[in-house]
Amino acid sequence: MECVISKNGTTVKGKTTYALQKQGSLLVYKNVEAEVCNNCGEAYLSVETTRKFSNLLLMLL
Ligand SMILES: [Zn+2]
Repeated sequence: MECVISKNGTTVKGKTTYALQKQGSLLVYKNVEAEVCNNCGEAYLSVETTRKFSNLLLMLL
């Protein structure tokens, strides 16, 4: 897909690190599957992955 930040960049499948912050605690997930821009390095999580993390965050509340 097209990167919304660098415009001329395209994303490729890759891995990123995703951090969740909750009440002073920091949870860091490494090697999260994402689409990563080959120009600026911006990572885009899939809808499915985003939902998964949203649920995780809710469970931590
Ligand atoms: Zn980009």
